[in-house]
Amino acid sequence: MKKLCAISLLLVCLLCGCTESVPAEREIFAMDTLMTLRVWGDDTLVSDAVSEINRLDALLSVTNENSEIFALNRDGEAELSADTYDLLVKAIAVSRRTDGAFDPTVYPLVVAWGFTKDEQHVPTQEALDAARSLVGYERLLNRLDVTCVSFDGRIDLGGIAKGYTAQRIVDFLRSKGVETAFLSLGGNVQTLGSKPDGEAWVVGIADPDRPSQAIGCLRFSGSLALVTSGGYQRYFDENGVRYHHILDPKTGYPADSGLASVTVLAHDGALADGLSTALFVMGMEKATALWRESDDFEAVFLTEDGGIFVTEGAASLLRDCEFTVIER
Ligand code: ADP
Ligand code: MG
Repeated sequence: MKKLCAISLLLVCLLCGCTESVPAEREIFAMDTLMTLRVWGDDTLVSDAVSEINRLDALLSVTNENSEIFALNRDGEAELSADTYDLLVKAIAVSRRTDGAFDPTVYPLVVAWGFTKDEQHVPTQEALDAARSLVGYERLLNRLDVTCVSFDGRIDLGGIAKGYTAQRIVDFLRSKGVETAFLSLGGNVQTLGSKPDGEAWVVGIADPDRPSQAIGCLRFSGSLALVTSGGYQRYFDENGVRYHHILDPKTGYPADSGLASVTVLAHDGALADGLSTALFVMGMEKATALWRESDDFEAVFLTEDGGIFVTEGAASLLRDCEFTVIER
C-alpha cells in the first residue's frame, strides 16, 4: 500500500512537473512596446492577462483618441474609471516624493519636443515657455475628484503605466492561484514567485552605449519589479547634440543629471516605474538622499562616465561587473 502511494505521488509530481516546468508564453505589442508574458499555469490565464493589458492600454494611452486620458487632455475634464483614477493618484504620490522630478502633467513638454509623433525637434524658447506654464503636478492636486477630473493642463502617464500594468497582471495571476510568472513589458520586468526549477531569475542591465548588451545582471528569487529608465531608450540628434525623452519638468529640457540609466527594484511595479523616471531626472545625489530616507526601493545607477553604483540592498544581487556600493 505504501509503495502504491509512493508511486502515485511520484506520478502526480511528474505530471505536475510536465505542465509546470514549461510556461505558457505570449509576445504582444501594446503600450507602444514589445511585451513578453511567461506564466507557469493555464494558457487561458495568459489570454486573460493580454486582454487586461489591452484594456488598460485603451484607458491610459495618451495618443489613442478613445482613451480616457485623451478625452481629459482634449476636453479639460473627464469622468475617469477607477483604474485611471487609481493610477493618477499613484503618479501624484511619486511626484510628491520626488519633488516633481516625476510629473504626470509633463505632456505639453513632451509634445513641444515632438516625442509623441516621431517629429522630434528642439522647440523654440516661446514654445518651451508656453509648455512649461502648463506643467506642475501641484496644479492637479485640488482638481482630483473620484469621479471627475477637470484640468487645463495635459496628462501623460507613459512614465508609470507599464509598471502599473505589470503589477496589475501579477496581482491578477496571483489571485488565480498562479505561483510563478515572468513579465517583461518593454523592459519593465516583474516576476511572481520563484522558478519551479529553483534557479534564480536573471535580468540583465543594458549597457547604455550598446543597449543590446548587458553591463551586468541582477540575480534574485521571488517576486520583484525591476524597471530601467535611460536616455538611450528614445532620443534624436540635432546639430550634433543628443536629446532624449525623459524631461526635467523644472527646466523643460531633457534631464541632464550625469546619469545614463537608473534601474529601480521594488515590490510594487508602479512605484518602480515612476521612481526610475524620477531618479533619472534627479541625478545620483538627490536620488541617493531619497533612497536613504526610504525603505521601499533599491537602485542601480549607471553614470555617463561609465560608473556603476548600487544601493546596499541590491549589491548582493548584482553580478558580472565592478561596482561601488552606496551605503545608508
Ligand atoms: P519608458 O516608458 O520610455 O521605458 P520611462 O518610464 O522613463 O521610460 O518614461 C518615459 C516617458 O514618460 C516619456 O516618454 C514621457 O512620455 C514621460 N515622461 C518624460 N519625462 C517625464 C517626467 N519627468 N515625469 C513623468 N513622465 C515623464
Ligand atoms: Mg518610468
